[in-house]
Amino acid sequence: MGRYTGPVCRLCRREGVKLFLKTLRCDSPKCALEKRGEQAPGMHTQKRRKTSDYGARLREKQKVKRYFGVYDKQFRRYMDLASRSKGNTGSTLMTLLERRPDNIVHRLGFAGSRRTARQLVVHGHICVNGRKVTVPSLLVRAGDTVSVKARPKSLRFVKQSLEAFSGRLPDFLAVDSAGDSPSGRVLRLPGETDWSLPVQTALIIEFLSR
Ligand code: SF4
Repeated sequence: MGRYTGPVCRLCRREGVKLFLKTLRCDSPKCALEKRGEQAPGMHTQKRRKTSDYGARLREKQKVKRYFGVYDKQFRRYMDLASRSKGNTGSTLMTLLERRPDNIVHRLGFAGSRRTARQLVVHGHICVNGRKVTVPSLLVRAGDTVSVKARPKSLRFVKQSLEAFSGRLPDFLAVDSAGDSPSGRVLRLPGETDWSLPVQTALIIEFLSR
């Protein structure tokens, strides 16, 4: 499936939850979900019947996929990795998604949304352990350091984002914004308590195991 280029607020309205796909607007009264309520987009949404079991599982999968900004193929790759690892498949799937560099950059406060964080990574503004990364699907490990490239443009953008950051820093991350170049450290792998989105992973596993 190709890249979605339409209005992103529509995706939140479709899933009925805030996916935080924009920056400051998501926390303001201008949020489309707050203004219009949880009615799904489209002309005939009032007429829609009750969601089927299949529909509920599909929506849960789509919600997570859209929240982390991954394509279907990538999502299935994460699922394959999770099902081959030891432990609970659903938890491992979420941990893999949380370990993406664009997610880490966003949760450190270096970018106002995951979409912006992805741009920072793809355009080479971010380093992991001192080496430039441009692949948002790479997985960070416990102990990794995520820093900003020492370029005025990169630093200016990240510092502005840190000033506007109003979220809570998760326990598995530490940030150092005191020096010239802000950096963050992954203290441990993210666990269930660190998930930034409430998810019923069992529904996703059931959908993908059909
Ligand atoms: Fe979703 Fe943000 Fe748009 Fe609200 S403002 S509907 S949270 S993308």
